[in-house]
Amino acid sequence: MLHDIECMPVLDNTDNVMRLITLVLSLLVSAALLAKPSAEYLPSDANLDAAIPSPESQLGWEPGDWRIQHPQLVQYMYTLAEKSPRVSIKETGRTYQQKPLLQVIITSEENQSKLESLRQAHLEGASNSDTSAPLVVWLGYSVHGDEASGSNASPIVAWYLAASRSEYVKNLLKNTVIIIDPSLNPDGLDRFATWSNSNHSITSVGDRNGRIHNQDWPSGRTNHYLFDLNRDWLTLVHPESRARITEFHRWLPHIITDHHETGDDGFFFQPGVPTRQHPLTTAENLEMTRALVPYHAESFDSAGEMYFTEDTYDDFFYGKGSTYPDINGSIGILYEQPRVNGAVMKRDSGPLEFTEAIHNHVRMSLSTLKGAYEQSDEFKKYQANFFKAMQRRASSAGFDAWVIGDGNDPVKARELMDLFKRHQIEFQTLDTEVKADGQIFKPGHAWVIPVDQRQFGLAQAMLEVRTKFEDNTFYDVSAWNLAMAYNLPIAKLSRLPSTSSNTAANFSTADPDAVAWVISWNQLNAPVVLQNLLEAGAVVRASTKPFSINNGSGEVRFGEGSLVILTGLQEDDKAGKILDILNQTDIDVHSFNSQLTTNGPGLGTSHFKKVKPVKPLLITGRGTRSYDAGEAWFQLDRRLGVAPVMVDISRLRTIDLHDYTHLLMVNGRYADIGKNLKQTIASWVEDGGILVTIQGAATWAESICFENGDCNESKKGEDTAGTKPDAMAYGDFDDQRAQRTIGGAIVEARVDGTHPIAYGYDSQIPLFRKGSTLLKASENPFATPVRYTEKPLLSGYIGEQRLSEMSGQPAVIAERQGKGLVVRFANNPIFRGFWRGSERLWVNSLYFGPLVRSTELPE
Ligand SMILES: [Zn+2]
Repeated sequence: MLHDIECMPVLDNTDNVMRLITLVLSLLVSAALLAKPSAEYLPSDANLDAAIPSPESQLGWEPGDWRIQHPQLVQYMYTLAEKSPRVSIKETGRTYQQKPLLQVIITSEENQSKLESLRQAHLEGASNSDTSAPLVVWLGYSVHGDEASGSNASPIVAWYLAASRSEYVKNLLKNTVIIIDPSLNPDGLDRFATWSNSNHSITSVGDRNGRIHNQDWPSGRTNHYLFDLNRDWLTLVHPESRARITEFHRWLPHIITDHHETGDDGFFFQPGVPTRQHPLTTAENLEMTRALVPYHAESFDSAGEMYFTEDTYDDFFYGKGSTYPDINGSIGILYEQPRVNGAVMKRDSGPLEFTEAIHNHVRMSLSTLKGAYEQSDEFKKYQANFFKAMQRRASSAGFDAWVIGDGNDPVKARELMDLFKRHQIEFQTLDTEVKADGQIFKPGHAWVIPVDQRQFGLAQAMLEVRTKFEDNTFYDVSAWNLAMAYNLPIAKLSRLPSTSSNTAANFSTADPDAVAWVISWNQLNAPVVLQNLLEAGAVVRASTKPFSINNGSGEVRFGEGSLVILTGLQEDDKAGKILDILNQTDIDVHSFNSQLTTNGPGLGTSHFKKVKPVKPLLITGRGTRSYDAGEAWFQLDRRLGVAPVMVDISRLRTIDLHDYTHLLMVNGRYADIGKNLKQTIASWVEDGGILVTIQGAATWAESICFENGDCNESKKGEDTAGTKPDAMAYGDFDDQRAQRTIGGAIVEARVDGTHPIAYGYDSQIPLFRKGSTLLKASENPFATPVRYTEKPLLSGYIGEQRLSEMSGQPAVIAERQGKGLVVRFANNPIFRGFWRGSERLWVNSLYFGPLVRSTELPE
């Protein structure tokens, strides 16, 4: 029955009173009627073994009654493993909140007894086309925690596979290893379940205005630090992704499913729009995804469920769960169930029940397994052919290797290499000096990634530069070149240079008897060392000029922002702690026995400014973009060790800002900040506060009125007043919109490394650009440390008009106001936690913002 309350009594008598009473009673119990026992989600020929406990027998309620909590899911899966010889469980890792990440493996009892040898045989089959090893299908549920119907379906699917005595299931399990990841994002799942269950009423509320349909900030979509885990498959910033990728490569599934909820349409299953498949993904991948379509269609048609395919969604960004597998020899498939938050939700095509959403994910899981089983040889052949195709692609690539230099920051480079390692991409240390693309790569300071390797396809996907596209519409970002994100030099080599496997890095440590310790600011770990030193009460001074010192064996040059710790300035009881901080971090510390320099100011001059401890306040809550708030939280908490005081925007007016050194405002909508609060913020800045704003917050900051009268409310539309745009065809709207949308591309910027906000940078850096924010130019010629170049596009899609708008425009502005500073970023320099090459700009505004001095030229 489609979207109807089952078991609703049908009345045909004329007794109106009885009819009314029955109706009222039926409405009162309707919530209970919305749930149904697990067996009703399963095929009628399931022939379920009563000895294997159903989900409701363990939960105490039927699927659909409540949103399942992760501990309940874990407990049920362990019960299944205990009761059924077909089920085994491995804990693959833990979330930030220490919730176990489960891998539930279901296969025949015989297969369970030799799982490891089957896994090996399967991996060998992927190389030698032997199809005798079992098919491996991985079902992954609810990476977005508030799209919970997937995780709520997973116990029913697992129970079916563990308990069914049908011949079909027995044969399926004989030939297939089924890996169930019941909850890809347990922290988000629980945040949503708590919200949903807390707002649950016995009488179902289908009205979308109801609280249950409108989550509080932040939603359960994201993980603990509010990151979208379905964008983290390539960048692996988080433990959930790292654990999953390890297992992905251990098992290399033939098919991997990705169960979501979204929108109001019918159920979507991939393929998406064929022209929006990433060109590095093979055409055969699309065909094998299509091969499952008849199974899904049959299942949904017989249930009378609405569905669609090859529309709306793309298969482009490899950081997503349905796309990453496609460049690794698997078939990743996205499933999108229409969104339902409460027990039932009103929509145009009829009420949608949560049980129906669960049922659809069960249907889709089973049709995937059926199609995979019936075409298992085809899927196995596809995988073996994929690696052959990548081998052919590698041999016609036209070059032999990539070389990536450390850019004088070996720790940052090693972090990127570590990422490659997690993705099974092979690399070696450069053993001989190489010149390429006008750059010099030095032995021991560069890595070589040979083209001739099994993971060539993925390496190409992570390092390619692309500015031409068949389709200009992108569901997410259009570029993610990892060497650019890390701001590391890279080149292609036509011939493989001499390499070695030596990857050890040595750091110079602090000599306890030195007069001065100096740390170059361009090292990845310099900020965390600075933060730890400040917390330990050390006196740390930052250079505002370049300088050189002779260490006895030669001159060492240091740039602006270098940290100087004069041992004579430190309190005696802190020396040991300071040495521990310096020597227990992967960082180069130079020790000198004199304050005399050979070039630039001496260490005792006022060109070295004392760095003050920071106490930032991060604005969060409704209005701020939760992803961006999460990225700032993560950066402070995990990367810098700065205690993040997060305050909801609604509480801001009750707080004395003078207790804080910085006000951090991420992208968001701040129009609700009233005039009084805005004036409070202005006064706080003029008293010495540092306001750091990104994107929407930067635009908002441009409307603050400061004492000096530098106050320009938005003058949008003035230039175009009176002019009307040329007429366009109505049907061209989507294309025109795509041309004006910057979904995420990589652009080039010029950096003024003499400005404190740009300390640690050379002349040019790649920046991530998303959205079309343009900063209002500063009247002050010294206030724009970062500016987009004239032809900024490095990789990805930006329409012509948008590109010309940003040409030569400011990317970062830092203006003094009174004793304080306002920093405006046109784009997010800490995007998704993997833009390690640009994060320093934001970090600089924390530690070096106070160093920006007044730069008013005399009249
Ligand atoms: Zn989703």
